[in-house]
Amino acid sequence: MLSAAMTDTIFALSSGALPAGVAVIRVSGPDARNTLLTMFGKVPEPRRAAYGTISDVEGNPIDSGLILFFQGPASFTGEDVVEFHMHGGRAVIAAMFKQLGTLGLRSAEQGEFTKRAFLNGKLDLTEAEALADLIEAETEAQRRFAVMNASGGQKELYEGWRGRLIEYRALLEADLDFSDQEDVPGSVAEKVGLELEQFANEIDVHVSSFRRAEILRQGFDVVIIGRPNAGKSSLLNALARRDVALVSDEPGTTRDLIEIALDLGGVKVKVTDTAGIRDGAGKVEAMGIDRALSRASEADLVVQLQDLSSDEEPDLFEGALCVGSKLDLATGDFRLPFAISVETGQGISELLREIELKARDALGQAGDILPARLRHIELLTRAAAWMRDAISHNQIELKAEALRQASHEIGLITGRVDVEEILDVIFSRFCIGK
Ligand code: GDP
Repeated sequence: MLSAAMTDTIFALSSGALPAGVAVIRVSGPDARNTLLTMFGKVPEPRRAAYGTISDVEGNPIDSGLILFFQGPASFTGEDVVEFHMHGGRAVIAAMFKQLGTLGLRSAEQGEFTKRAFLNGKLDLTEAEALADLIEAETEAQRRFAVMNASGGQKELYEGWRGRLIEYRALLEADLDFSDQEDVPGSVAEKVGLELEQFANEIDVHVSSFRRAEILRQGFDVVIIGRPNAGKSSLLNALARRDVALVSDEPGTTRDLIEIALDLGGVKVKVTDTAGIRDGAGKVEAMGIDRALSRASEADLVVQLQDLSSDEEPDLFEGALCVGSKLDLATGDFRLPFAISVETGQGISELLREIELKARDALGQAGDILPARLRHIELLTRAAAWMRDAISHNQIELKAEALRQASHEIGLITGRVDVEEILDVIFSRFCIGK
């Protein structure tokens, strides 16, 4: 599995932006040990912090700091790894990088440490993807989901599924040796066919839970609509100023759609403000309205604001949560489940609570294993199609071949495709040694 690139020793700043109190430079590869000998004078005992001076090749000190040495394969990448914990000054790190370059090391590409960990069998692809999610996690729900998968949640599910497919195939292939080559009633092939049908349905259900994972990772999508002056942007601004706003989110992309992200009880929620919707708008405004309506039709939740200080009746958007706005100016009665005032702050917490409940509802049971990426969905869909293809054939060879394709697709999710292992299954389940 050792690729040419892995004979290189790589380094990178693994901690955050400089300057910082402490910065961590990680080095991985065959020269990690020599680098330590040159720059630290010795190789400390693996996994024990050692304190000392870190010097350049001429022996001039660069800084003092802590060194951690991980001897491969007991390291993140599976190779020898060194961590330099030093002062996080820009010049300190620049001097270190210069030295590491002089010693023939090169700076790591994006994700290269994790890639090496994968190539060395330390993680499968779903665990590697989950690590990326964990690093990006902004909310508690995202963190929990990422941690579950980083410690093998999806891997277990998909490896289990692949194991089942390999087993069915082994059963069919063994049957082939002992019987006619057709699927006859009551045969192994028939039984496998029935189970495969259920299994493919199980995969369909899993695939259909993708929207839940998207909500989790990208946020529950709330769109605010209403007439011009209904108070939409005032509400959005009020929400953006609350402590639930996630500042790290990307700013709105278009002039008439402004988006903010909130952390509501650990769930990421995106709220988008749209152009005001009214009849008889001019051409340019009408385009904005069209965009607002089409955006609303894709949303997980539409909040329709209705100005309580005006008696204009809004055109109701189907399925929208109707919220009265400008409660402080309200005259007369109104029949709406929620009413808010941005002016007094009234009703906003209740509205947020309602949105949070709806977001939680859409997320479903915490702890469910969900397909987290489009890549997973594509491969799972192909696998289910191959399974149905297997069911459709009468000839056992064709069934077996379709199952091989199906397990290959699932193997691509975890990145652990190994064609040899069907032999193990056959040998372990059947007494062929006679
Ligand atoms: P939009 O066109 O729907 O985005 O509406 P705006 O947010 O721009 O609000 C229209 C006007 O209503 C502005 O003058 C706001 O200051 C005012 N407004 C919005 N919300 C409230 C509220 O809760 N109370 C009062 N008194 N005025 C509000």
